[in-house]
Formats: sequence, structure tokens, C-alpha cells
Amino acid sequence: MSDLKFCQGPDCHTYTTQDRLKGPKDNKTYQTRRRSNFYYGRGNFCDQRCLYDWVAQYIEQGLDQFGRTTEAKHLTEENAWFKDYDWRASADESHRYFFYNGITKERRPLTEAQYRDTNYTLNER
Ligand SMILES: [Zn+2]
Repeated sequence: MSDLKFCQGPDCHTYTTQDRLKGPKDNKTYQTRRRSNFYYGRGNFCDQRCLYDWVAQYIEQGLDQFGRTTEAKHLTEENAWFKDYDWRASADESHRYFFYNGITKERRPLTEAQYRDTNYTLNER
């Protein structure tokens, strides 16, 4: 059996849906959802409501912990590269991946591996 994990929503157990009602017949309680996989918040939340409950409760702590934006960021040629692709034209053709600069409009070809590598960028940090 695969590992089950709990939804991280602080109020998940308070939503009275049938799938949350668990336990022995005479002592059922509404419980935090537990699944092998979740689709929200990078796999940590059972639904959007639980994700936003968490955000509402922890957003201030998170911003204090990891740093707030205190001045405007600027989009310049040096950090305007983003990845995109053209949908394949036919079934035997693969997508055409590329970098696109939002300021200069320049396109540069990418391999699929580079496209999927979240650390690969042309942007200056
Ligand atoms: Zn939940």
C-alpha cells in the first residue's frame, strides 16, 4: 500500500462531507482527508478551500519568515526571459520549445530537457 498523507488544511476536518466521516460505526468523526496524492498547493491540500485556509492562517508568518517585497521589481532585458512552446503541428512532431524575451521579443530555441529543467534560465538573478 502506498504512503498516505494528510491534507495540510487547518480546518479540513471541519467540512462535513461524507468522505471525511470515518471510524467505527458507533463512533464516527469527521477527519482530515488522507490520500496518496493531492492536487493543490504542490500536493499538500485536498482542495482550494483547504489551501486558502492555510494561506489565510499562515501568510503573515510566511512573509515575515521569507521576506516581503519592499520595493518595486523591474522587468528588464536581463530578466525578461521566459519559457514557452509552440504546440506540435502534427502527431509525429514534438513541441517546439523556446525562450522568449518579454522586452526585446527575441526567441531562442530550447531542448525539451532545458524546458523542463526549472533551474535552467537565461535570466540574471
Ligand atoms: Zn483538506
